[in-house]
Parts: sequence; structure tokens; C-alpha cells
Amino acid sequence: MRISFDLDDTLFVAEEDGFTLEPPLKFPWNRIYTERLRAGTLELMQHLREMHCEIWVYTTSFRSPFYIRSLFRHYGIRIDDVVNGARHAAEVQAGHAEPMPSKYPSHYRIDLHIDDDRSVLENGRYYGFRVIQIGPPDDTWADQIIEAVQKIKAAP
Ligand SMILES: [Mg+2]
Repeated sequence: MRISFDLDDTLFVAEEDGFTLEPPLKFPWNRIYTERLRAGTLELMQHLREMHCEIWVYTTSFRSPFYIRSLFRHYGIRIDDVVNGARHAAEVQAGHAEPMPSKYPSHYRIDLHIDDDRSVLENGRYYGFRVIQIGPPDDTWADQIIEAVQKIKAAP
């Protein structure tokens, strides 16, 4: 199965917002990749790999796929694919006069998307794709995701 993650305020979080963080990368990488990961990200990703999940990033930001993959690679995480703002515009919105949702995971056959944005959750209900909303600091966030993956896998 395929699972995608939003970046800003989902995996990339700030200490001043009350989050516990994964340790920073070592110099000089910490100067290049300044975003910090929510504590529990590394263990969760390893766990998802063991569960044979594909791990995607789906962000409305315009960070390049190369940058995003490289950042995670420095943490030992392989990202299978990246949909950024440019790719979404070219592949989801293009050719539609009416505005498409800001993210449309089912276009990429993504089974589950993780996001902090309530509107993405609401779009999921409307357009029929699965979203878990992960927002403020919460020690159970990774468990919620694992549990949802297990449920989806167990479904006939
Ligand atoms: Mg976000």
C-alpha cells in the first residue's frame, strides 16, 4: 500500500510550537537542510517499511523533489515519490477549468494521506480519499497511523 505525508506542520515542525524533534543532521548537512522532523518520524518510517508500505511526500510547497529526497536520505529514509506544488499543478489541476482540491491523493493511487490541514481532511470526505489529520504535539500520532495502515491492510 501507498502512504503519503504532508511536510509543513505535519513532519516538519518547530520546537517553538511545542514539538519534540528528531535530532538535527550533523554539520554541514544541518546548514543545508534546516527543516526539523517531528519526533517519532524515523521510527514510524522504518515501521511502515517493514509493513511494505510505499512512502510518498505530497506537499503544496515548491521544494524540489531532489531536495526532499536528499533531506530524508540523510536521515536514512527512502522516499518513493514526491508530489510537490508544481507536479500537482501539472498533473492534477491542468486541464480542469474548475479548481481541483489542493491535494488529490487518489490521483496517484495513494491509499492514505497524512496532513495537518483540516481542509484536506474535508476534501478527503468529499472526494473520497483517506486522510488522517495530525496536528499539534501528540504522543500517539505514529500509533494512529500504524493502526490505520493495519486496518486498511486487513480490509478485504
Ligand atoms: Mg501542512
